[in-house]
Amino acid sequence: MTDSLRLRVAVDAPQHTGLAAPLDYRSQRPLVPGTLVRVPLGKREVSGVVWADDRSEPQAGELREISLALDVLPPLGVHWRALVDFTAAYYQRGTGEIALSVLPPELRKLDNAQLANRIAKLRKSVAKADPGASDTATATETATASTPPALNPAQADALTRIEALAAAGTPPTVLLNGVTGSGKTEVYLGAAARALEAGQQALVLVPEINLTPQLEARFAERFAGRCIVSLHSALTPAQRLRSWLAAHLGLADLVLGTRLAVFASMPRLGLIVVDEEHDPSYKQQEGARYSARDLAVYRGRLENATVVLGSATPSLESWQRGIEGRYVRLDLPARIGDGALPRVRLVDMTQQPKSHGANTALSPPLVAALRERIAHGEQSLVFLNRRGYAPVLHCADCGWKSGCPHCSAWRVFHKLDRTLRCHHCGFTERVPRACPDCGNLDIAPIGRGTERLEEQLAEVLKDADGKPPRIARIDADSTRLKGALEAQLGAVHAGDVDVLVGTQMVTKGHDFRRVTLVAAVNPDSSLFSSDFRAPERLFALLMQAGGRAGRDAAHAARSEMWVQTWHPQHALYAALRTHDFGAFAAAQLKEREMAGLPPYSHLAILRADAHTTEAARAFLHAAAQLAATLPGADAVMLYPPVPLGVARVANVERMQMLVESASRVALQRLLALWLPELHALRRAPAEGAARILRWAVDVDPLSI
Ligand code: ADP
Ligand code: ZN
Ligand code: ZN
Repeated sequence: MTDSLRLRVAVDAPQHTGLAAPLDYRSQRPLVPGTLVRVPLGKREVSGVVWADDRSEPQAGELREISLALDVLPPLGVHWRALVDFTAAYYQRGTGEIALSVLPPELRKLDNAQLANRIAKLRKSVAKADPGASDTATATETATASTPPALNPAQADALTRIEALAAAGTPPTVLLNGVTGSGKTEVYLGAAARALEAGQQALVLVPEINLTPQLEARFAERFAGRCIVSLHSALTPAQRLRSWLAAHLGLADLVLGTRLAVFASMPRLGLIVVDEEHDPSYKQQEGARYSARDLAVYRGRLENATVVLGSATPSLESWQRGIEGRYVRLDLPARIGDGALPRVRLVDMTQQPKSHGANTALSPPLVAALRERIAHGEQSLVFLNRRGYAPVLHCADCGWKSGCPHCSAWRVFHKLDRTLRCHHCGFTERVPRACPDCGNLDIAPIGRGTERLEEQLAEVLKDADGKPPRIARIDADSTRLKGALEAQLGAVHAGDVDVLVGTQMVTKGHDFRRVTLVAAVNPDSSLFSSDFRAPERLFALLMQAGGRAGRDAAHAARSEMWVQTWHPQHALYAALRTHDFGAFAAAQLKEREMAGLPPYSHLAILRADAHTTEAARAFLHAAAQLAATLPGADAVMLYPPVPLGVARVANVERMQMLVESASRVALQRLLALWLPELHALRRAPAEGAARILRWAVDVDPLSI
């Protein structure tokens, strides 16, 4: 016993076990912190990471022994562990839970021999620089890198500032604010080139998997001969392990990925880029609800790496930090080649003639504009944030509506496969021939989604011979099959499409060269949403959508962004007209300040799911009473529990309670004291209260 050591190990245990901190184990030999291990936990064997070593002797018989040390893998670094520690503490999860959930799942399965084999193979393929070795790791010694364009003054200035600050020993967090097409990506490439020249690794985050191939191509072209890997959830387990290993072993110079890549282990990290930093996709919406954008900033400070947050419409949190001087804001004020931004045209729907049938969604001036584009051989993009044919079916005789029996939501009518589908729980049925309640044969769709919009566009845009234009639709339904999105996009790029219809999926990042008109059919609902971030999101969406038009300088002057609205006087649209993000942000920040909302306060949400509303509410009430007894409770405000927007999903009632504080520290302190107690509260419900199914906390929630 005298020879064995006590080690603390972060183990792979889900949150509900309440095992938040690393556990003690015994080892016959010393293992450095960061070593991957297998350990017994209850009746199972789980993966873990050695978190710290403790030379004191374990008490005999008390501790279980580490089963296996995967020491062919170099240990995870001190910075990586610090990032995991911070994430676990800040988002109130277990250390081991975070550590293991952000490592490639394959690492839990392989033994030392298998792992050694993978590492050897990887080293060989990178050394050989075989471009055909894999589609996730590109290393081409032979190809020549493309030369960068001469930067314009704003770009050059931005790069010089970034470089100067890094050289002065204080790598900055930069907020790079520039409209679409202003050359932000070129600045990322420049900053990455400098990092690589200095022998560092660069990490580039994008919000959507769909955008990685495009960006990867651009980086691969510029950095031919360098090893570039991507990390996102659509990779096979083997690919993900390979990319991760390349980063961890320092073989990869560049790592491109989605939010999970913020945890990539990179021993020489010098630069982190977060493209479209305002995008809600950076916030994980389940499990550990972390913000990869915020963690990128934290990681930059931790590792002394430069962080570049890029956006045309920064999050108000980042914008505010720019104002406070905590971030260095750098502007790219104009489009490359002085390309004009699309002219914004508001269609006042209150002034449009009352119409029926297909024309209700599409105003006469918009239809005329679309026809004109088709006649010129130019493309238009029409978007509507609602998929399916119609959001609800309705019987005018008895008032029946296509509700979901399991959710407090309507089932959406999908005409193509004649189904009623619940978008919350997935419950799907054939469309009934007649009203299920009264037998009326005349049940009608109310409202419209992208399927119906596509149909209506085909109708109103027919030519003199009655031939409809070529329309493509891009939404979650039309792109469900593998390769479907690529095929649709290919058709648009090839010019085989006149009008592209879609949800906000079409507005993100795509470089459409022939689009000269973008139209938002019905964006108003976000103006009056109960979610205080809805206007911010709408503005970003419309700016981004507008950015799809006129990307080709030759057409830029003709490009237009149409917005059909019943509230043309709204301040948001006024700011949109002048592309004035600064004015919009200033107005929003003023409102937030008066209402005491983020970034002027800090929020968390405690959620409870149960079979009944009463049980969920009782749990939250009991939790609130418990919180009130804790030290520091007076610095934090708890709001009464309320049901979520869609309260019931798949027969589960969902309630939430908002927790607010003017001080981030006070909020964190209370959460840290409070949440561990909730495990016990859940196991032993207060008198009269039924059990809940689960609870969860969301720190810095994005949707309220
Ligand atoms: P953003 O990322 O802001 O949308 P990009 O960096 O993609 O902008 O630039 C838009 C287009 O302009 C791209 O095709 C890019 O190659 C080109 N571009 C960027 N900077 C320059 C420059 N200094 N000179 C010429 N072309 C440039
Ligand atoms: Zn009926
Ligand atoms: Zn449902």
